[in-house]
Amino acid sequence: MAADVVVVGSCMTDLVSLTTRLPRAGETILGHKFFIGFGGKGANQCVQSARLGAKTSLICKVGKDSFGNDYVENLKKNGISTAFVGQTADAATGTASIIVNSEGENVVVIVPGANLLLNFEDLKMASDVICKAKVVVCQLEITPAVSLEVLKMAHASGAKTLFNPAPALADLDPQFYTHSDIFCCNETEAEILTGIPVGNLEDAGKVGRMLLERGCKLVIVTLGAEGCMMISVEEPIPKHVPAGKVRAMDTTGAGDSFVGALAFYLAYYPKLSIGEMIRNSNYVASVSVQAAGAQSSYPYRKDLPQNLF
Ligand code: ATP
Repeated sequence: MAADVVVVGSCMTDLVSLTTRLPRAGETILGHKFFIGFGGKGANQCVQSARLGAKTSLICKVGKDSFGNDYVENLKKNGISTAFVGQTADAATGTASIIVNSEGENVVVIVPGANLLLNFEDLKMASDVICKAKVVVCQLEITPAVSLEVLKMAHASGAKTLFNPAPALADLDPQFYTHSDIFCCNETEAEILTGIPVGNLEDAGKVGRMLLERGCKLVIVTLGAEGCMMISVEEPIPKHVPAGKVRAMDTTGAGDSFVGALAFYLAYYPKLSIGEMIRNSNYVASVSVQAAGAQSSYPYRKDLPQNLF
């Protein structure tokens, strides 16, 4: 049951309808396409890590319903241990109901459902797996106190902690900063956390410095097509790690692809510099933006250049 990369986080079933325009309140309109996708930041990150070859375990909760059953199958198909995937009859599997119009604009309703029932008792049962991991990853699509407890458990046992504060909370408990070995956010999250709007590398550097002051050891701000900014206690000068130029088709889930890839490199290539790990993770995420969807766009190891491994 042991895993090198352990992700504690969310599973969401994406229910996507494509329409020409978005409906007004009270209106019923016809869509031209519907599909169901597997999402949720926790599962996305775990899937990307597993597809690169990591031995992974996802600790999460889904409903005792057909979406939950399908999700467990999806995780198994990706080679992820489901030993600590709980199924509850007390809430439905988390869903994201998404309507996308022909301009690509969307409206989204997220119902976290079972994700919010993942609790301290579940962590206790999985404590062996969490504490023996090389890298433990979490986000904020589950109860924040549960994520914080995971970081504390992992930290105390010597596992590397990778925290992705998404979706961001303006009043994030300061302990998240001190228990994250790597704190990785995007531009929007950076602004919510610090009040600094991030439009360029310089702004990202300011964010990074502020987060170091709050107790982070290493901060990464992802910058979309521009790649990332990194800054650390050891190297307190902001450094740009650019992404390669690609033709982006759909950036959904790019941030999760990046975090999942970074977890893989932290676990299996600890001798690489963090800059090299970020460069490789940028590459993986830049492949994901060239195909549609989140998990559906995530590359497998066999499809990537071998110099990444
Ligand atoms: P999402 O919310 O869509 O999952 P995000 O906003 O969390 O994404 P981004 O900062 O947009 O995350 O992107 C994460 C990483 O994905 C970037 O650091 C980069 O490596 C890669 N990436 C994103 N967009 C592009 C792009 N247009 N071209 C190349 N790489 C990209």
